[in-house]
Amino acid sequence: MSTSEVKQPTWLEKRVRQDEIDKYLVDGKDFIPQEEIPLLLERHKNPDAKQVRDLLDKSLAIQSLTPEETAVLLNVEDPQLLAEMKSASLKVKLKVYDNRIVTFAPLYLGSYCVNNCSYCGFKTDNINAERKVLTPSEIVKEVEALTGKIGHKRLIVVYGEHPRNDVDYIVSSIKTIYSVKAKVKGHESCIRRVNVNAPPFSIEDLKKIHDAGIGTYQVFQETYHLPTYRKVHPANTIKGNYRWRLYSMHRALEAGIDDVGIGALFGLADWRFDVMGLVYHSLELEERFGIGPHTISFPRLEPALNANMDQFSKTRVSDEDFKKLILVLRLAVPHAGMIITARESAQIRKEAIEMGITQTDASSNIGLGGYQKEKSAQDEKNQQFILGDTRSLEDVIAEFARMGYITSFCTAGYRCGRTGECIMELLRNGQEGKFCKLNAVLTFKEWVDDFASEETRKLSLPIIEREIAQIRQTNPQIFDLFMEYYRRIEAGERDLYL
Ligand code: SAM
Ligand code: SF4
Repeated sequence: MSTSEVKQPTWLEKRVRQDEIDKYLVDGKDFIPQEEIPLLLERHKNPDAKQVRDLLDKSLAIQSLTPEETAVLLNVEDPQLLAEMKSASLKVKLKVYDNRIVTFAPLYLGSYCVNNCSYCGFKTDNINAERKVLTPSEIVKEVEALTGKIGHKRLIVVYGEHPRNDVDYIVSSIKTIYSVKAKVKGHESCIRRVNVNAPPFSIEDLKKIHDAGIGTYQVFQETYHLPTYRKVHPANTIKGNYRWRLYSMHRALEAGIDDVGIGALFGLADWRFDVMGLVYHSLELEERFGIGPHTISFPRLEPALNANMDQFSKTRVSDEDFKKLILVLRLAVPHAGMIITARESAQIRKEAIEMGITQTDASSNIGLGGYQKEKSAQDEKNQQFILGDTRSLEDVIAEFARMGYITSFCTAGYRCGRTGECIMELLRNGQEGKFCKLNAVLTFKEWVDDFASEETRKLSLPIIEREIAQIRQTNPQIFDLFMEYYRRIEAGERDLYL
């Protein structure tokens, strides 16, 4: 065969780089001990109350728990101890993140996908799914609606895995998003932070994504349980490669993305196994890179078009178990942000907030091109799965205000370099909450002035006043500067942060 006839690798063949898996293995093994996890869970059945309370003290000192200790908490059944876990979880959250809830919106940009995940509406075999990749002008319209009408400042952009929404598309779509400047009451409103939920990439591609100026890069392992992983992700697909996915955060950190988010899709395998998997993953990142995950996500399976949910009936996670897994994760990885999404019902989300959640979405529409439509019902042909809570951002903010929480649109962290090891240090020392409180108030004030109805304004202003009084006490050295910024925002300036 002459050189000109040498067969070039296809897009699919170039996707997984075996050397970018092998370099992280230790003696050929990855960091999820498949056989040991069930043994640990079995060994710690019927835990002793004193041991559980000691672990709560460890979490309250903002120290990560070991897998063994996590197995102890996963086995707690006693209602009194569960109540103590709940109270400790909320205390941990308040200590690390204060009483603020960060909000964002998902923006789906591409639904083409070469993979065939059995639970997903975008799987390649789903011939009834409508496929779409948003054009630059469609992206502009979506972003104008999100930031100009609803008031969002943070997005998570979501893509399937396909040459049509590959890395170059991801980079250019992010640039388009950042370029949109909407006008609201004479002020500028724009997206200040784009987080990304995308398939795993090579280090080379991740460097390009990093250079686009992203916030958090998320990839969910879906399940850490290898036999289940293989069952739901066919071997002849890219996603069928468990370890390519497992090391996506290692590659991201190596590419310079020092803000990463991990997650598992609960309901595929035994939920306890996947909590353990998340803890092993978090510890592995901390040990190797000195940076744990900035966020942990724990979506539960939702119905999707042509995804037969009966196949998961044995591993479905009940509401009670779901709440318990949130508590255990909150306590096991005390410095991590915890994200609950609009997949869950309004009631579950409300309860979860009292268990230490730090971030949630609102006004979510996961249909491609859905935000620019005046009123759009959920359309299973055009979305990955069906949402459980479609309340508006304003309704969610009003609920938080009634519960005493402040909604934060702060995006200062990554713009001031408070990411990576720096943010980990601040989180562990309980300093991050203080910093972010200032920016939470400034950004919430912007939203209230630009977007709140009279009723929501009345609910929100006392929260702002209470926070200002606290800042005066806890941050006297910076209080005058903070108040100067606050007044400038009141007078119409935007995007001031400390
Ligand atoms: N396609 C990329 C990937 O799989 O990595 C990007 C993310 S995908 C569009 C976003 C996430 O949605 C997946 O990682 C999975 O956890 C979740 N997901 C998929 N199907 C779901 C379903 N039926 N219910 C709830 N979440 C689902
Ligand atoms: Fe594709 Fe992601 Fe859906 Fe799997 S979960 S089919 S990779 S979009």
